[in-house]
Amino acid sequence: MTTKYVFVTGGVLSGLGKGITTSSIGKILQARGYNVTAVKIDPYLNVDAGTMNPFQHGEVFVTFDGGETDLDLGHYERFLDIEVPKYHNITSGQVYYSVIRKERRGKYLGQTVQLIPHVTDEIKRRIMLVTRRERPDVVLVEIGGTVGDYEGLPFLEAARQMKLEMPEDVLFVHVALVPLLSTTGELKTKPLQHSVAELRRVGIQPDIIIARSPKPLDEGTKRKISLFTNVPLEAVFTSYDVDTIYKVPLILEEQGLGKYIIRKLGLEDRPAKLDDWVSFVNSLENAKEVVRVFMCGKYVKLHDSYISIVEAIKHAAAHLKVKPEIVWCDTEEIEKEPSKVTELNNADAVIVLPGFGARGVEGKIEAIRYVRENNIPFLGICYGMQLAVVEFARNVVGLKGAHTTEVDPNTPYPVIDITPEEANVKDLGGTMILGNRRIKIMEGTIAHEIYGRAEIQERHRHRYEVNPRFFNALTERGLVFSGWRVDKPRVEIIELPTHYFFVATQFHPEFRSRPLRPHPLFIALLRAAINRKHELPSPYSLRHVTA
Ligand code: GLN
Repeated sequence: MTTKYVFVTGGVLSGLGKGITTSSIGKILQARGYNVTAVKIDPYLNVDAGTMNPFQHGEVFVTFDGGETDLDLGHYERFLDIEVPKYHNITSGQVYYSVIRKERRGKYLGQTVQLIPHVTDEIKRRIMLVTRRERPDVVLVEIGGTVGDYEGLPFLEAARQMKLEMPEDVLFVHVALVPLLSTTGELKTKPLQHSVAELRRVGIQPDIIIARSPKPLDEGTKRKISLFTNVPLEAVFTSYDVDTIYKVPLILEEQGLGKYIIRKLGLEDRPAKLDDWVSFVNSLENAKEVVRVFMCGKYVKLHDSYISIVEAIKHAAAHLKVKPEIVWCDTEEIEKEPSKVTELNNADAVIVLPGFGARGVEGKIEAIRYVRENNIPFLGICYGMQLAVVEFARNVVGLKGAHTTEVDPNTPYPVIDITPEEANVKDLGGTMILGNRRIKIMEGTIAHEIYGRAEIQERHRHRYEVNPRFFNALTERGLVFSGWRVDKPRVEIIELPTHYFFVATQFHPEFRSRPLRPHPLFIALLRAAINRKHELPSPYSLRHVTA
């Protein structure tokens, strides 16, 4: 069959959960047996998300092939249980970069290089590349930002041209806010009408409207939207507020969105198989026993900064039929007021988060000391693992002033140091150790028990690592290196077998967790947390002390 394209645009506000809507559309098509993938367009000029502050755009999602991408790719991977390559995140930066490079190489043969057709052709080429390489049945193309943004115009223009070229194969879905006016209790459609007017001004007539609204739209509101946007009544849907994002595919399917898209694209309708998804959502919603997970880091004020970790916790919790409660712990607060570290006593599990730079680091080290000394289940991720090594070096091995050279280049004991291949790198963008690396797991370790296998692949994003000079000093005092890179003597997993549960990884397990395939490390952490709550022995530690 020919590949179909569903463009998803947004109106009124950003941050409406367009990524979740896009993923949900994907899910209900996939549930009918179609091979679906998704592309995110980010109209900003950055080449990728790698150099952006998580405070502005949330987490940088790392793809298996080492892309530092927009967090919506994480939603696509989780909802669709697929692995998306990095070229599925298209930015203006990439588009202009290649057009200008081509111009310098003389590839345009004397032409005047212009926004239309050269930039729009490059955009279309990048979208069509997905079809050429992967041959999916449906490609969802989410255009970031809001209709009316200047920088989004070339992308809308490219989408308009694709519709002209393939009228049967392209569909436009517009997602826009319909706010509830608290004074009158009325749903207001005017902003949505304006955003559709804006779309039509650039030549795009949406086929489907998805109103983002606090409650389901009544018939009258729907009629009004239909009339003013020139979209049939049956093509107006609502994505109303729900407790969990994973419910969105279900509420859209219930309203008949899947059937409608299938019909409009001229595809054969088939029964949507969503049983497993429904049971997953039920487990999420019905779990009673609370497991409290403290997340310690510096970007904790913007929760989207660690969205994949939060989602990974939810997946594992649903699997174990418990209700996760996330408590954000800003480690700078521990630095200001050291007694605050005792609040970790209220945690069933503690995760020390990935990060960069010096801010909040001493607080993280202090938090790690506390959980290590008090047998609180602990998972360290990336920086969280490196700082666990620093803590162990300082407080167990007795190397006073031990540190990572990322923070203290003059430390007497550089237990964490720059990876040799990173030492001479000048550019910041795209130069870390990124994406999948093969890892071997040592037999007889907790990691081996958790994974149940001797080799794994996990995703990376870092420049520093455990310094080989200190391997002996650390292991002699009981730290176990249970995971190693296959190709080089690099530490990937550390653990403390005498602790109730103390495991940390140089890689990022969160990017591989899926709703129906939770990541074993998160399951292990929560399982340990539940056992400890019930005063049972640790399910994992091999020679562990009791809680
Ligand atoms: N800053 C550390 C490094 O670059 C850790 C990175 C991370 O936590 N993602 O190695």
